[in-house]
Amino acid sequence: MRQKIVAGNWKMNNDKSETKSLIKGLNKSIKKLSLENTRVIIAPSFVNLASAIKKTKKSKIEVVSQNMHQSKSGAFTGEVSADMLTSIGIKTVIIGHSERRSIFNETDNLLAEKVNSALENDLETIFCFGELLEDRKSGNHFNIVEEQLKNVLFQLDEIAWENIILAYEPVWAIGTGETASPEQAQEMHAFIRSIIEKQYNKKVANAVSILYGGSVKPANAKEIFSKEDVDGGLIGGASLNAADFSAIIKAI
Ligand code: PEP
Repeated sequence: MRQKIVAGNWKMNNDKSETKSLIKGLNKSIKKLSLENTRVIIAPSFVNLASAIKKTKKSKIEVVSQNMHQSKSGAFTGEVSADMLTSIGIKTVIIGHSERRSIFNETDNLLAEKVNSALENDLETIFCFGELLEDRKSGNHFNIVEEQLKNVLFQLDEIAWENIILAYEPVWAIGTGETASPEQAQEMHAFIRSIIEKQYNKKVANAVSILYGGSVKPANAKEIFSKEDVDGGLIGGASLNAADFSAIIKAI
């Protein structure tokens, strides 16, 4: 079901006590909000997931993972499996963030394996994708986005889409301070819905939540979130500050 969602990707930031105090600040500032149809998500580092779950037990905040390995178990030093995540109470995982693609060489093939593994293990998946600056400049951005979705998600059956959240994140807007305009975000989100409708049907296209990510800040959140096909945001930098993140949550 389509939902309003504001998700904070904390990346490799915040040690144990910083994680606790950021959650404390967030809990305090969103406590009085009704947030009836809105999900608030944070993605701390692996080592802080368990304590974050504990700290958010009585709050509206959901704790999710930034990544996972595609295999069930085995000799994969330094990796974390879906089973390990679900065993501590994680219900959702982010897959395909542009930093995983560019720094850790994660390809569409690998991401398809990860998505399949997550869904098989009942983990809802926030799938990230988006074009590079050169693709946008050359006018190839729609093709790139369509390819990424085709390669990773269009092999799924219709039912699987109930556990998919999309996060369109133009790479040129991530951590750069340069945001896609609300019109650019709307244009791409509408395109995404149209290709999902072509591949599946209207019901699937209208039910999926599509988040925008890329330099969302308190100052621009409201306008971006006001667009018809934008269901919320995946927030990096601004989610590391309780006041900024809660201002973005209030903007939805
Ligand atoms: C992100 O990393 O997913 C992101 C959107 O970062 P930022 O908000 O800092 O651009």
